[in-house]
Amino acid sequence: MSDHKPVPYLGTPQATIAVLEKYKFVFQKRFGQNFLIDPRVLDRIIAAAEIGADDFVLEIGPGIGTMTQYLAASAREVTAVEIDQTLIPILKDTLKDFPNVEIINRDILKVDIGALAREKNQGRPIKVVANLPYYITTPIIMGLLESHVPFESITVMVQKEVADRMKTGPGSKDYGALSLAVQYYVKPEIVANVPPNCFMPRPNVGSAVIRLTRHTEPPVKVRDEKLMFRLIRASFNQRRKTLVNGLKNSGDLSFTKEQIEAAITAIGRPLTVRGEALTLEEFAALANEFTAKME
Ligand code: SAM
Repeated sequence: MSDHKPVPYLGTPQATIAVLEKYKFVFQKRFGQNFLIDPRVLDRIIAAAEIGADDFVLEIGPGIGTMTQYLAASAREVTAVEIDQTLIPILKDTLKDFPNVEIINRDILKVDIGALAREKNQGRPIKVVANLPYYITTPIIMGLLESHVPFESITVMVQKEVADRMKTGPGSKDYGALSLAVQYYVKPEIVANVPPNCFMPRPNVGSAVIRLTRHTEPPVKVRDEKLMFRLIRASFNQRRKTLVNGLKNSGDLSFTKEQIEAAITAIGRPLTVRGEALTLEEFAALANEFTAKME
């Protein structure tokens, strides 16, 4: 491949409008389409993702290829997964000078990302970068975290409120399964706050770029990770209930009331505690109490 990689040219309002008009593109609200039109934000995302010349990058939802151009100019290879088939001819055009990009026309939630990493990066950890469609941010992030896809970092644009939710702890109404999964698997850092005027069309809310970096060692030791997340889900499904009732009424768990009460007491909490008060360390300790009983 030539050392002289093409220079990204999309990412301004003018260039975006020109592409949209050329193809008479109609925005699909149901696909969460808000295209980036600010080169400073794009530079910031690329810098935060620390893309190197040997990196394989997965981009989720390339849109008209704006960020894809930036990624392709920095990475060894980029695979971009886009659900909207009307964008595929546009991407073929805007990315024609970037031979290291492959476009896949699929729903990202149906893609086996582990298999993609094996095929494209010999199973070595990949980098995921995206301006995520807001309607499926949580399933995408939870899927990447819980399916043990080999990744080094995930650098994504999300709604500001979702970025805050990923970083928060007990005591906040935003604390939940997403916060705990993020904090168990990765270190979250907000890299930039991005106002609505950096997108076309403008979203109704503020956005933020968040970088999630894989922990080398999880921050807590838990014998059965899956059980811990089942306990977490059961606790937050019934937020207003006590932890005892949340776990007892969950269709997914089959512990008796006595077992649940014994485990809560063993981690040093009163039986009136609510699940939303527990820290990650306490959920891990609770899961370990139950696995100790099963051994
Ligand atoms: N990356 C572009 C940019 O920054 O200008 C577009 C970002 S836009 C917020 C989200 C993109 O994700 C859209 O192109 C949308 O069509 C695509 N998308 C939505 N749902 C998807 C899904 N389930 N799988 C793959 N792509 C999806």
